[in-house]
Amino acid sequence: MSNSTRACALVAPHSFKVIEIPLPPMGPKDVRVTPQAVGVCGTDFHIADGAGNYNLTPSGEPIPLAQEAQILGHEIVGKVVEIGSAVHDIQVGQSVVLDQGLSCISHYRTDLCEYCSSGASHQCETYTEYGITGLAGGFSEELIVPAINVLETSGARSPSECALTEPLACMLHTTGMLNDARQRYTLKSKDAASRVHTILIMGAGPAGLLMTQVLRGALGFEGTLLVSEPNPYKRTLVASFGAEVWDANEPGIEDWIQEKSDGRMLEWAFEASGAGPAFASMPRLLRKQATVIKYGIGHQGQGLELLNDFHWKEPTFLMPVGASSPFDQDGRATYYRQALEWIESGKVQVEPLITHRYAGLEQVPQALGDDHKDANYVKGIVEFQV
Ligand SMILES: [Zn+2]
Ligand SMILES: [Zn+2]
Repeated sequence: MSNSTRACALVAPHSFKVIEIPLPPMGPKDVRVTPQAVGVCGTDFHIADGAGNYNLTPSGEPIPLAQEAQILGHEIVGKVVEIGSAVHDIQVGQSVVLDQGLSCISHYRTDLCEYCSSGASHQCETYTEYGITGLAGGFSEELIVPAINVLETSGARSPSECALTEPLACMLHTTGMLNDARQRYTLKSKDAASRVHTILIMGAGPAGLLMTQVLRGALGFEGTLLVSEPNPYKRTLVASFGAEVWDANEPGIEDWIQEKSDGRMLEWAFEASGAGPAFASMPRLLRKQATVIKYGIGHQGQGLELLNDFHWKEPTFLMPVGASSPFDQDGRATYYRQALEWIESGKVQVEPLITHRYAGLEQVPQALGDDHKDANYVKGIVEFQV
């Protein structure tokens, strides 16, 4: 097999080029994977637009794209085309989902760093990530990755659907943080006074749509689940997953929540819109000592003084990022496995989220272009004929 591969590289902001890149040497515990479907997400747009660069020198300086091009794509499903001599639980020909984060476990260390040993894999002290931190991602014809980072799919769903494993694992990581946090209100409290009755999700993009399904279908939340979203298509979609919806273009959300919560207001508020005005409206909507999950990033136009309005209510603030996970017995990421299982069983429906499809390396520039600014854009997937 070849020690180089074709890839679509980001060589400057908004500028892509198909080039030949070297592959790392294939180790005995590695597998060689050919991407079948790669999801596009906000982080990719951020990097492609030149707004973010996570390929850093050891001292934390970004390495310019002109010096090191980035192959994007970190939500990866691929077919195994070769296995290392010490790989016994993955077969050639299998379709696998990749945990794109390299942790202590990925390097087969026995002495784990404090983050890996406590189940925060994507906070690993030596963390690197395919498609983001300089390592080539899924917009390439081949990747060589540790076998312990891949999970086989059952074949029940298409590779494109399975490519939503990573975004769903991000939601599982969020629920993990919610379980671990000291909070006044929890989902399963036996005492009605400290139980979560009303949750608001701001934004019905992929995160909001997945979180709605996790709360309803997977965690069995039967209380009032509210979603505010400006786009009618996304409102219809999230309503079909069991949420009551509010048009975020309209004033009056405070009254609506008053009414829906019988005056209690929100015990949990999940910010997944990244919109400054949405976040600024949140303090008024909270019950005292509520939990705020700031998942969205952005919130342009809001100063830090906004936090003063939260302060008086003494909320628990959580800021989950990525798909950090504990590890199963076999060393694979618990949350990726769980997420894949939920997608394959239909507990979480991801097909309706896929609004844009692109074909192969040649359409990567289009996938990372302006389509995501369409009002009805939810999720784009680059699909490969393998
Ligand atoms: Zn992502
Ligand atoms: Zn580690």
